[in-house]
Amino acid sequence: DPRLSVIRGTIREVPNFPKDGILFQDITTTLLDPVAFGHCIELLYERYRDKGVDVVAGFEARGLIFGAPLSLRLKCAFVPLRKPKKLPGETIGEAYDLEYGSDRIEMHVGHVKEGDRVLLVDDLIATGGTMVAGIKLMKKVKAEIVEAACILELPLLKGKDKLVEHDVSLYTMVE
Ligand code: IMP
Repeated sequence: DPRLSVIRGTIREVPNFPKDGILFQDITTTLLDPVAFGHCIELLYERYRDKGVDVVAGFEARGLIFGAPLSLRLKCAFVPLRKPKKLPGETIGEAYDLEYGSDRIEMHVGHVKEGDRVLLVDDLIATGGTMVAGIKLMKKVKAEIVEAACILELPLLKGKDKLVEHDVSLYTMVE
């Protein structure tokens, strides 16, 4: 699909961010280009439009940017997965290890219901720790996971294998 190389061409690599030795993949340059940003959303829409998605769940922060417009295209609910103490209502959460430390995600209780078909969305998968936390959180509330989707994958970190251990498949656009 020629759209994939358009997307790839907009991603900027920033060396030594957030710390020395890390080559950070920056998608803010993709957001500057409405054609490339639009391709991201349309590729996701085309893949999931007939999959009966009830909820798009997007990870703070950059999963929110891609997940929310996708939920509008799919005409389904959007649920933000937030860092601790951001959500005002009662929350349910899951702790996880990150490439750069450890963290926790939370969502509002009742916003994903038993049996809901959930699509998990983030900008990038590295070790898969964040995505696995999302998977565990959805399983806690007895939701069904349609798939995990990211714009970018760092294949050397084998995040995909970690998802397979949880019986969730991964869709990514750019390696
Ligand atoms: P993982 O949990 O190791 O798979 O790391 C993925 C999470 O860290 C995602 O929420 C990403 O947004 C973030 N992340 C890790 N590395 C990068 C990067 O190079 N660019 C953008 N986000 C990153």
